Amino acid sequence: MATVITLPLAVAPAAQASPVSDAVAVLLTKKVKGANVTKHLREFQRIADANGGNRAAGSAGYDKSVEYVSSKLRKAGYRVTTTDVEFPTGWAELAPPVLEQVSPNAKTYAPGVDFLTVTSSGSGDVTAEVQVIDAVLPPGPNPNTSTAGCEAADFAGFMPGRIALIQRGTCPYQQKADNAKAAGAAAVVFFNEGQPGRTDSYAFDIGEWRYGFPVVFADFAVGNELAASPGTRLHVKTTTRVDVGRTKNVLAETRTGDPDKVVVVGAHLDSVHEGAGINDNASGTAGVLETALQLRHFPVRHKVRFAFWGAEELGLLGSTQYVQGLSRAEHDRIKLYLNFDMIGSPNFGYFIYDGDNSDAVGAPAGPPGSAQIEKTFERFYQKRGLPFAGTDFSGRSDYGPFIETGIPAGGLFTGGEGIKTPEQAALFGGTAGAPFDPCYHTPCDSIANVNTTALDVNSDAVAAATATYAYDLSGIPPRNAPAAEAASAPRAIPEHAAH
Ligand SMILES: [Zn+2]
Repeated sequence: MATVITLPLAVAPAAQASPVSDAVAVLLTKKVKGANVTKHLREFQRIADANGGNRAAGSAGYDKSVEYVSSKLRKAGYRVTTTDVEFPTGWAELAPPVLEQVSPNAKTYAPGVDFLTVTSSGSGDVTAEVQVIDAVLPPGPNPNTSTAGCEAADFAGFMPGRIALIQRGTCPYQQKADNAKAAGAAAVVFFNEGQPGRTDSYAFDIGEWRYGFPVVFADFAVGNELAASPGTRLHVKTTTRVDVGRTKNVLAETRTGDPDKVVVVGAHLDSVHEGAGINDNASGTAGVLETALQLRHFPVRHKVRFAFWGAEELGLLGSTQYVQGLSRAEHDRIKLYLNFDMIGSPNFGYFIYDGDNSDAVGAPAGPPGSAQIEKTFERFYQKRGLPFAGTDFSGRSDYGPFIETGIPAGGLFTGGEGIKTPEQAALFGGTAGAPFDPCYHTPCDSIANVNTTALDVNSDAVAAATATYAYDLSGIPPRNAPAAEAASAPRAIPEHAAH
């Protein structure tokens, strides 16, 4: 039987730290017990053991994980839905590609020598004028001088329907091709940057299979030649097959709370193929799940939407497709996003996403409000007398698509494959010179691979932050800028974040 606790909502002042949110945070953290969080972990281990040892997207272990969280949440009274997530399962090239100049001079380039089809490229047969995008020619003295195609602004004068010719350089190929697609390109021809050792064409997987147009990679000589003769018409043809699998995100929403103010709290539900994924990320899943199960007792002021993402390990696919599928109005209603990906690492640190970029490393600050979210977690650890540190907002987990479109975000992380420094060991305890999670993305990420103290503390932190924002959004500045404008603001994406 669910007990409903009634709270004096009317006494809460709107503009300052609300005593109601503080009171609920205390009550909810008491209800979220480490032993119950661990029970969920045992269930995810059992699911993996019974289904080939993993819970990866597309596997029976994943589908059972979906059933487990859905049924728990449904029984707790939540409105549970799923959204489809597509992921690539295979790619093949069915015929040699074609790249030729049609006019002014007919000239055919040799596949496998002058150019290659980029893995994951779509199929297409395009004849159109080529347009060079912001190239540095002759090439700069050092590798990665060119920023060609990295910014949407590089395509300002681009004619839709043309073929984009884009030089290798500072940012991931996927970022360049995304911008080309957004600008209406009919095909993309990449070419090598041109410094010594960077002249040949080579094979790589662009990691995005939904362009639906040819993407080829030419050597520097070809790119240089095409860039030198504006108005050239090109014929590009690729014949490929993309196999697509389908999986699901699980979403569970409170029945109470203002539907115009939505707080999204998420964790990825999938593991890698290599193992059961208990720290990564049954830990975050279990903390969020138990918070949801206990929050059912409280009449929240804002709608809380718990999200269990699919196919995160394949490149944040579940959260990315979810955010892309939101209407403008739905996007505006989401006031913030909290993310929990690995919260019980064996050699843990208490890391908070660096929303204000106070650490000044890696990616810039998150959207306005992210700094306040970081402060909320800092206050949680301070109250318990626990140490904490920032961790770069690199975009490597499901908060990525939220911050990219202007939604403030924050969350926790206890460390992955990175090595704990002596300074971090002095701060958090544990073993210096060893990884935070020695079983990261390996078969030993099992129920034995979790520090229960860190898991317990951080599950309380999930509860405290969820309660805070379920009742009090006064610290989050209103978002006036349209999502599209926020999305087009240049944001440096570190190379390692590219999938
Ligand atoms: Zn993860």
